[in-house]
Amino acid sequence: MNRDWRRPLVGRMLMLLGGCLLLGLVTGEYAWTLVLGLLAQLGWMLGQLIRLHRWLSRREKDEPPPDGYGLWGEIFDAIYHLQRRGQRERGRLQAVIDRIQESTAALRDAVVMLDSEGNLEWWNRAAETLLGLKAPQDAGQPVTNLVRHPRFKEYFEREEYREPLELASPINDDVRLQFQITRYGNAEHLMLVRDVTRLHQLEQMRKDFVANVSHELRTPLTVLAGYLETLVDNVDEVNPRWQRPLHTMQQQATRMQALLNDLLLLAKLEAADYPSDNSPIDIQRLLQSIRTDAVALSGDQAHRIELDVQPGASLKGSEAELRSAFSNLVFNAVKYTPAHGTIRIHWWSDAQGGHLRVSDNGPGIEARHLPRLTERFYRVDAGRASHSGGTGLGLAIVKHVLLRHRGKLEIHSEMGRGSQFSCHFDPRQLLAGPPQPADEED
Ligand code: ADP
Repeated sequence: MNRDWRRPLVGRMLMLLGGCLLLGLVTGEYAWTLVLGLLAQLGWMLGQLIRLHRWLSRREKDEPPPDGYGLWGEIFDAIYHLQRRGQRERGRLQAVIDRIQESTAALRDAVVMLDSEGNLEWWNRAAETLLGLKAPQDAGQPVTNLVRHPRFKEYFEREEYREPLELASPINDDVRLQFQITRYGNAEHLMLVRDVTRLHQLEQMRKDFVANVSHELRTPLTVLAGYLETLVDNVDEVNPRWQRPLHTMQQQATRMQALLNDLLLLAKLEAADYPSDNSPIDIQRLLQSIRTDAVALSGDQAHRIELDVQPGASLKGSEAELRSAFSNLVFNAVKYTPAHGTIRIHWWSDAQGGHLRVSDNGPGIEARHLPRLTERFYRVDAGRASHSGGTGLGLAIVKHVLLRHRGKLEIHSEMGRGSQFSCHFDPRQLLAGPPQPADEED
């Protein structure tokens, strides 16, 4: 390849020129002999070009280049060399692609690549077994046509993929799948799908166990509480030594009943994703009646309980569930705010949806507790909470009710200044009608 082609080229040109001059000397026709010489050179060049073209058009047969002389030989060799290098690169890239495809094919999780519109571009073998995708006919199809579940459609179109989505497999109801979508490149989607049937079954067993135990304990506890009530009602006939223990027993039995009721309610909330009931709820009336109960709960502590509801507020969902969630927030504010404290219940709606905020000027909660508040039985101060008669399940219930109503709970609190518990509902949960003008967020 590194042959020096310049010297033979110059030698050849000089020889041609010399030959033409010699012939011109013999014939006396210098001009014509030069023209003839140049034509011969041109013809040779054209001949080489035709050989190059022929060789290039036969390239798929992987033939070595034709023998060439001087510059043409160099050109043939250089092209051949470039082509060989290109082939080697292609081979290497193909090997990498094959390895990636082999490894993704061996994955037990499904990997699906979707374009920015959500149409299927590529998927691995597990996607065929878990989701029932078929190659090649499903390529280019919108994913929402193949995973035909309203919750998947909603999840996909919402483009908020922080939390994974769990659903039954589109081809087998017994298989539970977890969908996780990430955006990459030019807004394309990478969808990972895991089989979480085993985890789901374990979770289901846990839920069933808690629900069954709570249910089984309810009847004996009702009997005990009933007898205790009778005894307390006739406390004068009982030995005075038993009066205090009887009162304590009745208090604890009432607490246990509240606990069982909350556990059963949680089990019911966890059993389905969305509330069965989807009727319109008059928020004003609901919050008004919760306020009345809160005033009764506050009693001698005389909290100031303010209610501020945007007129015409209504929401779709289950009134019983929302009553339970909202009253948990309001009653917590009453329970944890010292006497004469102020509690504000505020409802407003805007383009982002419907919002309820319950704020108090109580003792506040330390920031480190906030992320864990909605865990079952999590208490900031066990002594204070058990004194307040709480079950430790209130905020867990709130969280579940909100999840079922396309809502989110947001908690802000500052030590010594009070707490704010806000419920944010998706606009789809609001009843159709012109959106209310955005309210100030104080
Ligand atoms: P509980 O039944 O104990 O009230 P919750 O789940 O309702 O359980 O609340 C969890 C914990 O959060 C409570 O134990 C309490 O410490 C704290 N908490 C809830 N609401 C408030 C509030 N408004 N002010 C201060 N602390 C609160």
